[in-house]
Amino acid sequence: MAPVSKASEQSATAPQRPGDGRPARSAPQRALEKLGLLRDIDLALHLPLRYEDETRLTRIADAREGDAVQVEGVVSDSRVDFRPRRQLVVRVDDGSDELVLRFLHFYPSQQKALAVGTRVRVRGELRGGFLGREMVHPAVKAVSADTPLAEALTPVYPSSAQLPQAYLRKAVASALLRAPLAELLPPGIVPPGLPTLKDALTFLHHPAPRVPMATLEDRSHPAWQRLKFEELLAQQLSQAQAQRERAALRAPALQALPGGRHERLLAALPFQLTAAQQRVAEEIARDLARPQPMHRLLQGDVGSGKTVVAALAAAVAIDAGWQCALMAPTEILAEQHFRKLVQWLEPLGITVAWLTGSRRGKGRAQMLARVASGEAGLVVGTHAVIQDDVAFAKLGLAIVDEQHRFGVAQRLQLKRKLDSAGVEPHLLMMSATPIPRTLAMSYYADLDVSTIDELPPGRTPVVTKVFADGKRDSVIARIQAEVAQGRQIYWVCPLIEESETLDLQNATATHAQLSETLPGTLVGLLHGRMPAAEKAAVMSLFTGGPEDATGRSRASSSSAGGGAPQGGAPGGPRMAVLVSTTVIEVGVDVPNASLMVIEHAERFGLSQLHQLRGRVGRGAVASVCVLLYSPPLSDTGKARLKAMAETNDGFEIARRDLEIRGPGEFMGARQSGAALLRFADLTEDAALLDQARQLAPRLLASHPQAASAQIERWLGSRAEYLKA
Ligand code: ADP
Ligand code: MG
Repeated sequence: MAPVSKASEQSATAPQRPGDGRPARSAPQRALEKLGLLRDIDLALHLPLRYEDETRLTRIADAREGDAVQVEGVVSDSRVDFRPRRQLVVRVDDGSDELVLRFLHFYPSQQKALAVGTRVRVRGELRGGFLGREMVHPAVKAVSADTPLAEALTPVYPSSAQLPQAYLRKAVASALLRAPLAELLPPGIVPPGLPTLKDALTFLHHPAPRVPMATLEDRSHPAWQRLKFEELLAQQLSQAQAQRERAALRAPALQALPGGRHERLLAALPFQLTAAQQRVAEEIARDLARPQPMHRLLQGDVGSGKTVVAALAAAVAIDAGWQCALMAPTEILAEQHFRKLVQWLEPLGITVAWLTGSRRGKGRAQMLARVASGEAGLVVGTHAVIQDDVAFAKLGLAIVDEQHRFGVAQRLQLKRKLDSAGVEPHLLMMSATPIPRTLAMSYYADLDVSTIDELPPGRTPVVTKVFADGKRDSVIARIQAEVAQGRQIYWVCPLIEESETLDLQNATATHAQLSETLPGTLVGLLHGRMPAAEKAAVMSLFTGGPEDATGRSRASSSSAGGGAPQGGAPGGPRMAVLVSTTVIEVGVDVPNASLMVIEHAERFGLSQLHQLRGRVGRGAVASVCVLLYSPPLSDTGKARLKAMAETNDGFEIARRDLEIRGPGEFMGARQSGAALLRFADLTEDAALLDQARQLAPRLLASHPQAASAQIERWLGSRAEYLKA
């Protein structure tokens, strides 16, 4: 910082508001815009990072080493020393003691401004130096004996190089006077003891002297509490509003018929539902039977058996004369669902259609016609299912698998699709990633949640081993042994986000290496940039082998899909090893796969590792997941791999993931369209969140206009995204 800051503070001018004559925007104005500080309210909510205390003076004799203090005295000596290096050394005397100011960089003008006899106010951290008390590069201001002290703490704002603090301070101070901060909430809503929003903000920008700094830093001061309460309340209001809007909508009441298809499906399944599956299936059936649209999340760890629950719901809807759509985030996953659902539902006389982005031309036109006529009871696919040209005759139930992996735009599109009809379809979302409790209470407050907390019986837990890259050869030897026993193996290659090309090279190289080391074994390669047909062919060679756990060929899909994915050739060669990039991440179901190797496991997120690992351990065979990493590991890398080795429990994994990455990352696509909470912290402010949760529905009922204004002030256009 420049030794004498007075000049620069005076040169700052308040920002000009764009208007007549279109004054050229200054660099600081452009910098403000870049930070998103456009409106008065934006500036008013731009809170200080920290404060400087210019409200009081400390006697030099009383200041202790390490203190950040402001002192005032007269320059008693000023000279340029040359040893140990060139520097300006100034002595200031305040009558109690002397202080040495040291400037390693300085201009002649600064030297002149610090001439002997000048009265200066000096702010900085006190150090015990060679010559006694000293400050290095303190902030210095020339004053006269009657220059008043600051009346409030001086805010230091988050800023950028082009935006001087002094400029920003003035801009914020004037915006604070103009910003629309009138109290919106009726009396009795704000918890007692908290100031108005306007007072809270005024205080946080200019705190009174001697306020305990710790209460500002840890945000426990009532002014902070008020701000956080406002924000949490707005968020809860928007959730409550969404819930009310939905309650006002009409949906078809889909009653399960006695002796209907869902009962026949249950009877035909080669297994019994687990107690947890039964419970969630009943929860869903109850929702479907109501004339309001269901809005339910079905969460269950990988392999817990969500698909069959979805199929049962679809059977109910179709029996009631409505159509059902099932959408998955990737083509491979959609295809897995398609096969399974065809196998389960076609024997019951249900026509299953198949729609993806890669399907064009005549086949697509035919498919669309089947959807439009109502002939297709169930439509399975990627987000192609909700494209504008897809018109359902009577859509009664939409099922979205791994919904958090869809982008915000796609979720909004789905919402539009659902909103367009006179009668709303029911919505069932499925996810293998459980929502942590705090998020469930806040961002997902308007969602009903069903949880499958039990795996089907007979699964042997996957054993996870972590090895450094150096062990690669012994891992390959292990593969050989597994193949010899008729088992199948996944080898997953790293995700290199910056470069799809590198991704591919890596997978290709590994594929070549494994093909060479495992002669006589069919080693396949799968990556995201392969044409869909080729991907499907590779997948079916791997999934469609003759030795299914049930002894039957798993590939038998003749269906409405015409050009739909074909099963593997029964009796043909079975692919033993599948080398793949992360395209297999979700949903692939090959019970005979007993070993998964994940290369460069340190580059994957925790939830993703868990999802990948869920591809093995699907049958009765004991399965192993090998995590290869290349040292050195970062701390978070270490934490992730350790968590993987320690637990198979998806809920525990999600909890640790949240701990390691924070909620922003956790919400994945959701955060891209919607800023997370700016001021409140879901963990620390659980008590405020609770209050806001209880108040929101009451406020919405008694003061709907105030509620809307509150949502608008805090969420504005983001409210739509938060509901997506
Ligand atoms: P996820 O919840 O990960 O989507 P899936 O629905 O793919 O799990 O089910 C995993 C495997 O478990 C599938 O092969 C499925 O047929 C089978 N499965 C589902 N429910 C049961 C059950 N109750 N008993 C035995 N196997 C089941
Ligand atoms: Mg699944």
